[in-house]
Amino acid sequence: MSQAAVIDGKAFAADLRARVGVAAAAFEAKAGRKAGLAVVLVGEDPASQVYVRNKGKQTVEAGMASFEHKLPADTTQADLIALVERLNADPAVDGILVQLPLPKHLDEQAVVERISPNKDVDGLTPTSTGRLALGLPGLVPCTPLGCLMLLKDRLGSLSGKEAVVIGRSILVGKPMAQLLLAESCTVTIAHSRTQNLPDVVRRADIVVAAVGRPEMVKADWIKPGATVIDVGINRVPAAEEGKTRLVGDVDYAGASSVAGAITPVPGGVGPMTIAVLLRNTLVAAHRNAGVALEDQAL
Ligand code: NDP
Repeated sequence: MSQAAVIDGKAFAADLRARVGVAAAAFEAKAGRKAGLAVVLVGEDPASQVYVRNKGKQTVEAGMASFEHKLPADTTQADLIALVERLNADPAVDGILVQLPLPKHLDEQAVVERISPNKDVDGLTPTSTGRLALGLPGLVPCTPLGCLMLLKDRLGSLSGKEAVVIGRSILVGKPMAQLLLAESCTVTIAHSRTQNLPDVVRRADIVVAAVGRPEMVKADWIKPGATVIDVGINRVPAAEEGKTRLVGDVDYAGASSVAGAITPVPGGVGPMTIAVLLRNTLVAAHRNAGVALEDQAL
């Protein structure tokens, strides 16, 4: 049996970051300032600290300004919202990202709702999600937009394809389904209550797995030749004692012998998320400054 082509998200993301860098320099020349991304981190969650550090580093590498706001774990809702409002009003800031999850005592939805839709580079405000549902232009969550870019790069037109999205989160599953619908796929959204999930997935020309369960999607769930996008990032024990390794939501080794193309974990969807965040920030900067974006393909 032939092996699936590996969809190299790492290389695609590097190329996207390079294009964003070129466009960021052009923006600075025209607008007289750099595009700016503000990232807000509340508390000391180690994974979130790594994400925020990487975002800051890649923002600067792309020629944009990075503003990091680190707040203590006991920050109040009022103080956090006051910071969001200051960033909304700051003309040097084009994108605002509040790193989730927030500590339990804070109301995430209420905080996200205060982000100006013009600066909502995570695409999570009601305005952004509503515009996506209405098919209007707007800022779209980074991970699903990254998945869509990989799919279109691989398959060209997605029109008429059967797509199954496993997972219905606000961050990944739901916006992914909306994006695929906008590309004229026939979309099924599966979740924890879906019956006969393997049979549902077997229909799919395109499978997007965003579940958070290590290697749940098995080889015999995949239609031969299907394109498989694995969003999952799960840390599991490695063969060597005391070590861990990352796996996706798909049994990669098994699925590779059936699928036409598949994203690896790591090196597939993961690197796309920050690259698309930079892209979203640059798009927002152009809109906020009233400057035309030259690279229409971005
Ligand atoms: P959530 O936990 O918010 O959502 C998981 C979804 O999976 C839910 O809709 C849930 O259904 C569904 N689900 C859970 N168990 C099953 C099951 N047995 N069968 C079918 N569906 C099931 O996760 P996220 O969407 O935020 O993330 C999903 C995965 O993607 C995680 O591994 C996360 O780490 C990863 N991720 C990766 C990113 C990247 O940059 N590559 C970015 C964001 C996430 P229900 O709604 O019914 O509970």
